[in-house]
Amino acid sequence: MNASTRTPEGWPGKCPTCGHELWIEPSLPSRDATCPRCGSLVWLSQSVPEPETTTKPITVKELYETAAVYVNRPEFRRWQDNPEEPRDWSGAAAFFGIVKGDRIDPAERVGEVRNAVKNAMDWCKAQEVAFLTKGSGQGGTPIHIRDLAEMLDFLQSLALRFPNHLDKSI
Ligand SMILES: [Zn+2]
Repeated sequence: MNASTRTPEGWPGKCPTCGHELWIEPSLPSRDATCPRCGSLVWLSQSVPEPETTTKPITVKELYETAAVYVNRPEFRRWQDNPEEPRDWSGAAAFFGIVKGDRIDPAERVGEVRNAVKNAMDWCKAQEVAFLTKGSGQGGTPIHIRDLAEMLDFLQSLALRFPNHLDKSI
């Protein structure tokens, strides 16, 4: 992996005790941290999975292209500025690319987006990078792993806000 793609800001980790997502400053020589939620000691070396380079059927280009579609949707960007957004279902439907008359199950679409974003985050963590890219020399704006994490929060808040449309996915 190109050293310049490593995160300048911290390492993503997950508390093995309570599952809390956390960021670990790379300057810590021991690369451990205390979970802000439950107080458990978290070792980064245990919380980051080994990179899988041989058996992954999905390429990073595919992960990127799927994630980029949703991360760049204006409905998601508006929600990042104002968590009250979107106020009605039509905004959420626009985010999912569902137009009136489509026979797409929104709950199924949520599951697809969530899986794509989770796979993208797993890739970033496995590669120990903070950004999802198309791969070297492929162009495209890198997607920060925090945007991916926020996308999961966004999906969760949509599910809570529009249970009539999305409750099957929770
Ligand atoms: Zn914890």
